[in-house]
Amino acid sequence: MNLILLGAPGAGKGTQAEMLTQKLSIPAISTGNMLREAIANGTALGKEVKQYMDGGLLVPDDLILSIVAERVKQPDCTNGFILDGVPRTLAQAEALDAKGVRVDHVVSIEIDDAVIEGRMTGRRVCAKCSASYHITANPPATEGTCDQCGGELVIRKDDAPETVRKRLQVYHESTEVLKDYYAKAGKLRIIEGNQSIEGANRDILVAIGAEV
Ligand code: ADP
Ligand code: ADP
Ligand code: ZN
Repeated sequence: MNLILLGAPGAGKGTQAEMLTQKLSIPAISTGNMLREAIANGTALGKEVKQYMDGGLLVPDDLILSIVAERVKQPDCTNGFILDGVPRTLAQAEALDAKGVRVDHVVSIEIDDAVIEGRMTGRRVCAKCSASYHITANPPATEGTCDQCGGELVIRKDDAPETVRKRLQVYHESTEVLKDYYAKAGKLRIIEGNQSIEGANRDILVAIGAEV
């Protein structure tokens, strides 16, 4: 089962990707996490993408496509994968199709812009494994520490309110069109994102025809 998770920043893609990974035993591929890792490791890719990410802008399509094409060829993707945060432009979607990356369901997690700022100001992510938490909606067992790996929880630089507003604008301008693209292909599944994490997860499982 090959899935794409679509949605504005803060819609809950990362949170749902982690849950679906457990449930479906297929890997979650987050381009955002891969790029942040490249920055943390000081690689050439990391140096190239840092300014875009810090500014809330999209990283050029060719860079994204090469890392995704490479990743989905890995042996752990044989039974499927979850793309979290990619594709994000029409060009990326078309290129994935052209490369023969098959997609079964595109889950669009819908959320009003007004809800997003509160989600972002409360978001904390694990510096080690990238797990996503929220100080009130999804707190870790021990403040500041990742439940999964014990890593330190940090605030993402691009979660500053001004950058969040920029990212939202980019979402509406460049990414939202993908809903039409995948609706035409009969693959779009709309999910209400403004509900509990568990509720959204159940709706996704139903929408993709998986056991709840
Ligand atoms: P969020 O899940 O909050 O929307 P991500 O972690 O997916 O954030 O992305 C963070 C940043 O990484 C984006 O603002 C962008 O700069 C870059 N990025 C991630 N995925 C892509 C992509 N598919 N295309 C272009 N840029 C991307
Ligand atoms: P995305 O990957 O789409 O940017 P995340 O999964 O990182 O979004 O979620 C953004 C923030 O909102 C995180 O702090 C997360 O814990 C929180 N969150 C995710 N889903 C929900 C939900 N259904 N209700 C409340 N908070 C949520
Ligand atoms: Zn962790």
